[in-house]
Amino acid sequence: MPYNTRMDLNKKLTPEQYKVTQQCGTEPPFSGKYYNHSEDGDYVCVCCEQILFSSTTKFDSGTGWPSFSDITKIESVKLIDDNSYGYIRIEVRCAKCNAHLGHVFDDGPTPTGKRYCINSASLDFIES
Ligand SMILES: [Zn+2]
Repeated sequence: MPYNTRMDLNKKLTPEQYKVTQQCGTEPPFSGKYYNHSEDGDYVCVCCEQILFSSTTKFDSGTGWPSFSDITKIESVKLIDDNSYGYIRIEVRCAKCNAHLGHVFDDGPTPTGKRYCINSASLDFIES
């Protein structure tokens, strides 16, 4: 982890943010601060502050988690096959610091058809 040591992250993050981003946790639906958030701006990684998603691609999926139809830059995340819990899902991680962000599904709106289902605890927001 070149940008932050684990110890620094421990100080910087809340226990919930740490659990989600470092231990692949999932926040309870309808509990996060961004699922019902519609300001204009950019959502960044809570750990390394890299820009990940734009408010222009955010949509209300009804799932209780912030949902985006696209990533701001494809190289800012990495996608990993996740077969845990008996599901075949694709995990989304920050490409810069490896923080767990959420999962991506193929039932999103046009034009991408993608639904990036992201934990609020993995994100910070910068108003534009
Ligand atoms: Zn990051």
